[in-house]
Formats: sequence, structure tokens, C-alpha cells
Amino acid sequence: MDRSTRDVVVVGNGIIGLSTAFELSQRAPDLRIAVIGPAAREGAASVAAGAMLNCFGEATVSTLGDPASVAKFGVRLAGGETMSAPAVVVAAGSRTRRFIEQLPLGAVPLMLQGTGLAVLTQRHDDAAGFDHVVRTPNQPGACGLQLVPLGDRGHEYIGGTNLPSFLHSTGPSLGVSFNLLRRACEDFDHRLGYSHIHRWLVGHRPVTLDGFPLLGAVPSCRGLVFASGTYRDGFHSSPVIAPHIADVVLDRATAHPHFVPFAPERPPIERTSVAAATDQFVEHQNDDAVLLGIRLPYCIGRVHSCAGTMSWAGHAHGGIGTHERHVTGRHQGRDDLARSRRRGASAAARRVVRRP
Ligand SMILES: Cc1cc2nc3c(=O)[nH]c(=O)nc-3n(C[C@H](O)[C@H](O)[C@H](O)COP(=O)(O)OP(=O)(O)OC[C@H]3O[C@@H](n4cnc5c(N)ncnc54)[C@H](O)[C@@H]3O)c2cc1C
Repeated sequence: MDRSTRDVVVVGNGIIGLSTAFELSQRAPDLRIAVIGPAAREGAASVAAGAMLNCFGEATVSTLGDPASVAKFGVRLAGGETMSAPAVVVAAGSRTRRFIEQLPLGAVPLMLQGTGLAVLTQRHDDAAGFDHVVRTPNQPGACGLQLVPLGDRGHEYIGGTNLPSFLHSTGPSLGVSFNLLRRACEDFDHRLGYSHIHRWLVGHRPVTLDGFPLLGAVPSCRGLVFASGTYRDGFHSSPVIAPHIADVVLDRATAHPHFVPFAPERPPIERTSVAAATDQFVEHQNDDAVLLGIRLPYCIGRVHSCAGTMSWAGHAHGGIGTHERHVTGRHQGRDDLARSRRRGASAAARRVVRRP
């Protein structure tokens, strides 16, 4: 068989790429499909996931707040050869960003990575562990804590941390990792402290700037299809995503209305205001500080602790603005708003200092 041409090339061998290739092969057995990706899948989100069917457990206050809530071209392989196909599906997880950056600036929302840590453990002396999945509700700034039993002899999966960032991170920080293990022992079962760690799993969740996935064709580049940005729910949603992507590839692009908002070429979907997002950030940071054990004396209340976090939020938003400006040349208005929030934060801080 000629190795340089295929009918479909899928770039990425995580759950989304593999599900899409599987769906295509079931529907059109004669199709010549290539899945490209490194065998070790280092940093792939799919390898680190607990693979729970937990979309609803991940819902946040903003989840339902918005209606959106061939040219024959070649893929260059690591060895230097190219592989051509009329359809190329990019399912490269958080690395999809590198493909987005090849397109005209701002055509497709940028991709961040939500770095996550999980551990595979075994109970001491093969003692029995949990016999069903347990998870906490969502926790500030992250998803809930999860424990998934893995068969007998006390094997368990404990996850997961989540730190979204524009910057490429090779792994979670010591502090974040420490917190995961500490909370597992304190919130689930203190005897987990005796468990042995068999493997540390690190994966980068693909998350777009607006938080919604990129699913479908890129009209300005015929033959290019994106299937990424599933963030915390890629396993849960892959059985729905793969048939849609197969429809697009096989030209049955009667897009189901559910998928219309996720067309890759779109301006970022705005589902909240900067002010509301800042307030939410401040609330999360304060709740996180309490969860981590902070204790404030009676004379320091919520306003005091909010002021510092608010200026941090303004700084964080300014950072996003820089990335957005780089890509779209827009969002001056948001920067103005961020500045006024920062001014509000300093005014609040001044009020606090003046209080008797
Ligand atoms: C700790 C953690 C826990 C999670 N828990 C759950 C859960 O319980 N339930 C759930 O539904 N979801 C969960 N998720 C989210 C889920 O894992 C992701 O949404 C999903 O795995 C994303 O799949 P993907 O195929 O898009 O990306 P990935 O799994 O990241 O796969 C992308 C692949 O593409 C490859 N690649 C990248 N660039 C290239 C290139 N240029 N050429 C070729 N190959 C390339 C990479 O090496 C990688 O193998 C979790 C994620 C993490 C990190």
C-alpha cells in the first residue's frame, strides 16, 4: 500500500482521534485511515483521565448561561515524509494550538492547556478500598476530587488537579500535587495515607479561550477538520463527537443544531462579563484559601481579602488581553474595564486601611 496517501489522516491519538477513526472505519470499511501520534502519548489528557462519565458533575454556574453553553494537503511526519489526504482531522489535544496558530490570526479561538495530575495507588497490604466511584462537588478553581476503584486488591485512581494556562507546562507544581494528596486523605479516607503510589499521571486538558470545543470543518481551509477542546469531558462526550466528525468527513455535513455553536471558525463566545468573571475569580480564590486552611482574625473580613485577589484578577485578565490582542487586535474595551476593576480594588483596599 502506498504509505504517502490516505483518504483520511487523523492527527492525534487520544480518545477523540481514536474514537473518530473507529467511527469512520465502522461506517466506511474501505476508507484508508491513518492515525498519527507518538506511541508514548506523553502529556496526553486521555492517559491521565479517570474516564468518568461526569459531564454533569463538572457543571458550573455558567454552564447553562449561554445558548452556545482540499485542497489536497499534506501532513509532515516526524521522519520528514509527508502523508496526503483529502481530509485531515486535527485531534491533537492541547497541542491543537500549534495548528490554530497556522491559520489567519483570530480565525479560531486559541487553545490553552489545563494541566492535571492524578495518581494510581494501591492500598497497603492489599486492603480493600472503595467499591464505587466517589467524588466531591466542584471545588474552588478546579474540578472536584475523584476516586475511581480499579478492580481488586485495593487499586485506586485519585485525581485530579487542573491549572489552565497559555504557557506550556511540563507538570503540576509541588504545592498543587501536595494539596491533591492531602485532600484525598482528609476528605475521602485517612487510611489512604498508607496507600502506595504506583504511577503519577500528568495530562494536559485541551481548553479553548472561550471554554467551548472546536468541532467541525474549517471552511477557509478545505479538507481541514478540528476535533478538540473537550476540556474536562472528552471521554464522556467522545461517543457523541466521533459520529459528528465522521459526518463532516464523509460529507454528510447536515450539522446537528447542537454542534453549530462549536464551529471552529468563530469569534470567542462571550458568556459572561469581565466584571462577573472577576467576582467569580475572587470568590473562588477566597473559598480556596479557606479550603486550604487559612484562618482570618475577626478584624479581617471578606472585603479585605477580596481587595488583594481582585487586583490579582485584574492582572490575570490583563494577561489574557495581551494574548487576545496578539491574536485578534481587539478587546480594548475589556482592558479598560479591567483597569477600572483594579482601580475599584485599590479603592476598596484604601477604605479598609482607613477603617478604625
Ligand atoms: C487528570 C485528568 C482527569 C480527567 N478526567 C476525565 C473524566 O473522568 N472524564 C472525562 O470525560 N474526561 C476527563 N478528562 C478530560 C479528558 O481526558 C480530555 O477531554 C480528553 O482526553 C481529550 O482527548 P484528546 O484526544 O482531545 O486529547 P489528548 O488525550 O491530549 O490526545 C492528543 C494526542 O495527540 C498527540 N499529538 C499532539 N500533537 C501532535 C502532532 N503534531 N502530531 C501527532 N500527534 C500529536 C498527543 O501526543 C496526544 O497523544 C480528564 C483529564 C485529566 C488531565
